[in-house]
Amino acid sequence: MMGRQPKVQNKLFYTAINLEQRVRKNHILRKIKRNIDFDFIYNEVKDTYGLNGNESVAPPVILKMMLLLIFYNVRSERELILTIPERIDWLWFLEYDIDDDIPNHSVLSKARARWGVEAFKTFFERIVWQCVQAGLVDGSKIFMDSSMVQADASNNSVVNKESLKRYLNSSYQILESRLEQEQQTCSSDDHRKSGAANSKYVSTTDPDASVTRRGSGKSTLKYQIHRGVDSKREVITATEVTPGEVHESHRLKSLIDTHEKNTETSVETAVADSKYGSIENYLTCRDRDIKAHFSSLEQTQKGTGTKKGIFAKEAFSYDAVNDIFICPAGQILKRRKYYEKRKHYEYKASPKTCNNCKLRDQCTKAKSGRTLKRHVRQDDLDSMLKQANSSESKKDIKTRQHLMERSFARGTRYGYQRARWRRLWRVEIQEYLTAAIQNIMILVKDVKEPAAALQMRVAPKAVEQATCGLLDLFNLLASNSARYCRTLVQSFALPYC
Ligand code: SF4
Repeated sequence: MMGRQPKVQNKLFYTAINLEQRVRKNHILRKIKRNIDFDFIYNEVKDTYGLNGNESVAPPVILKMMLLLIFYNVRSERELILTIPERIDWLWFLEYDIDDDIPNHSVLSKARARWGVEAFKTFFERIVWQCVQAGLVDGSKIFMDSSMVQADASNNSVVNKESLKRYLNSSYQILESRLEQEQQTCSSDDHRKSGAANSKYVSTTDPDASVTRRGSGKSTLKYQIHRGVDSKREVITATEVTPGEVHESHRLKSLIDTHEKNTETSVETAVADSKYGSIENYLTCRDRDIKAHFSSLEQTQKGTGTKKGIFAKEAFSYDAVNDIFICPAGQILKRRKYYEKRKHYEYKASPKTCNNCKLRDQCTKAKSGRTLKRHVRQDDLDSMLKQANSSESKKDIKTRQHLMERSFARGTRYGYQRARWRRLWRVEIQEYLTAAIQNIMILVKDVKEPAAALQMRVAPKAVEQATCGLLDLFNLLASNSARYCRTLVQSFALPYC
């Protein structure tokens, strides 16, 4: 017989609700709650709160809310706060009761400003360490790549700093003074915008984002995420955010440093694409005894641009005894000049010799004749290039392509390609949360009981928290007896009803 839906008559009280029972046993949030320690944040941010005044929302609750925001790719914080009371699993995860008041959405932005990037960085690092403890990280081989993130600012907000000077408006003046202040207080210039376009143009909405173009697309305001991923289970062990125009090759050293710090293992092989193949990076790897499995940028660009149709450097032979190059026409190129900044010598034949040469059209377009460059550490570079062209390296480079694409593709689920917030430090927070979530997913899926690893590491703290928890329970019972008695009765009695 067909059943009919009875007319809804709202109840005044619900007495048989137990959130613990309502959330299914294999719910992903249950796994996360069981395996991830959010209470570390108490210690991490305690100095950012005063001793008097209104009591804040508990920091672990705020951290969990931010995790939900990214994990479910919720469009905005307002929407998240509106959705929490409607989702029993979220309420359970946040340890709220069904009739508890949910905080205002502004607590999230205030907490970000109060805690700063460090708290989220620590959260990410703790997750990486948990993966290491669970045996999911090998540590000896790191894969690197970068991806663009669309800034939360329109191209219409980009202004030309120079042309605007003629009719400076008050909002631009405020922005300029703010940027000057930041430049004075900022000690590191690692992330500074340096391109010609970005020294001239600035976005009044998000001045940290840079006008960047990739491929044949339109120039837009972008950030760039640089990631280091471990080879074993694809755990993200290092991540950085820079303005979009910062070249990938400049982040290799810092990614290796972060990977080594977070995993407490030494990198033996660095795998990347040819954009990382700069002289500086090869020599960094050489000095640190790291195998550089990435193609040379110079070799990739061979025969293109101004070098198109002319003899490659390999067509010239180097005589180490006399420190000269012999060209295809049998002429000598002597050492002439030293370039301090790039640390290379320039070798040149006389202009007269080149101008009278039959091979000139195949050799140079310059009026002053052909020049060659040789780095002061060319022997080291040659051995690194030989290693970069080995079959082992080619295999790693092939693996890297799929592995890094997977890492970023998984990030799209959490909306990494678009900045949720403005300014570099906020985009860093977003990336730390996204990378932490991606690692958590590996942790809870790949390991049957990763909690054991964490328990070993935080056991004394857990005991302390359990003791505090009991004391809290007695205090709360004393101050709010009716409500907690009801909750206790529901929790204990219902499973036996
Ligand atoms: S152009 Fe100059 S460097 Fe080139 S082959 Fe002729 S002589 Fe040699």
